[in-house]
Amino acid sequence: MTPGLPIATGSCGNLESGGCPSPRSTFSGSRIKQIRSTADLAIHGAPPAFDQPVHVGRPNLGDREAFLRYAGEIYDRRWLTNDGPLVRELERRLAEYLGVRHCVAMCNGTIALEIAIRALGLEGEVIVPSYTFIATAHALHWQAITPVFADIDPAIHTLDPDAVRRMITPKTSGIIGVHLWGRAAPVEALQAIADQHGLQLMFDAAHAFGCSHNGQMIGGFGRAEVFSFHATKSFNSLEGGAVVTNDGELAEAMRLMRNFGFAGFDNVIHPGTNGKMVEICAAMGLVNLDDFDNTVAINRRNHAVYRELLSEIPGISVRDYDHTERNNYHYIVVEVGPDFPVSRDRMVEALHAENILARRYFWPGCHRMKPYRDLFPHAGLLLPNTERIAERVLLLPNGSGLPDGAIAVIGEVMRVLANG
Ligand SMILES: *Cc1c(COP(=O)(O)O)cnc(C)c1O
Repeated sequence: MTPGLPIATGSCGNLESGGCPSPRSTFSGSRIKQIRSTADLAIHGAPPAFDQPVHVGRPNLGDREAFLRYAGEIYDRRWLTNDGPLVRELERRLAEYLGVRHCVAMCNGTIALEIAIRALGLEGEVIVPSYTFIATAHALHWQAITPVFADIDPAIHTLDPDAVRRMITPKTSGIIGVHLWGRAAPVEALQAIADQHGLQLMFDAAHAFGCSHNGQMIGGFGRAEVFSFHATKSFNSLEGGAVVTNDGELAEAMRLMRNFGFAGFDNVIHPGTNGKMVEICAAMGLVNLDDFDNTVAINRRNHAVYRELLSEIPGISVRDYDHTERNNYHYIVVEVGPDFPVSRDRMVEALHAENILARRYFWPGCHRMKPYRDLFPHAGLLLPNTERIAERVLLLPNGSGLPDGAIAVIGEVMRVLANG
């Protein structure tokens, strides 16, 4: 990739850096300028602040030697997949960490969602937010279940319980709440609605690993919660995911579904698919779990610096975390208000020109992506908060791979844009 060229979204066609070949194994770019006025901005022809792309969602990596030791064990055992010892150890440690009885590890978060949806017997219509990663909706649509989009609370970006109530029909079988940016969806209100209407409740907890709600770790709410351990998440297992639950029967059904329904040699007792996690992914999970407190400490420090630098700039805000809860501090969520002199999209352009690949998550909302726009062309009329927030939010890079100076550069770009 040519240094100096501003890079458009997804330089390798993938969403984030998780799948991109990086020219070097660690970031060795460095900032090459100060930004004091608009003339210093790369969108106005100045050289970019970084000569290599700075990604949102650059993977956090634990100890290399520990990972290689596990890789050696896998070689020695010749046990690569199919409920191997490292997968079992990871499941045991995750269940303990999250305070849940059962953890069923999967090959990724999307298959974990699909299997949980199937195990809960969801059908017909299921209420979900539109303001989420597309996989929440796809996991339903892929199984011929209609995702029905409910609006969010604009203050916290998670499902608005009143909006959920309005979307219930005789075909509704369940609700999937999303703990967006690691903040719990309104768990108690959604549970009350589910109980009142005889609906199943589960959560997409892909953002919320290591986060708590009312002091209880996320993972134990609803009938099941689903995590993603994708490379771009706060905790990763290369690719991976898990469903956690306190319901033993549900866990047993999901274990069968994840392995084609096999109950022993030559004996299939359940419909199923292939959702198995492989040993090398479990190895990365174990290494990263050991390092997770360190990752969170780095994220937390970065988040505090972002808050300090950007809070002085009128018209934008950096979403805070609830410091009475446990948080992973992974998501640096900026809202560009209507009074800011340039649009969110212009700000993203300005940052991309500096080689800082800020992202417009989750623009334009699932309901405006083609498969769902075709199904529900007028959904936006019922989703005013989703539409407004999706126009205003951008995500900034964080994590242990964040290069020195990146936060300062972002602060300078935004300050210059604020001053026109
Ligand atoms: C990442 C993500 C998923 C999908 O997880 P994968 O492991 O990438 O399949 C689902 N929902 C949300 C909210 C996510 O952020």
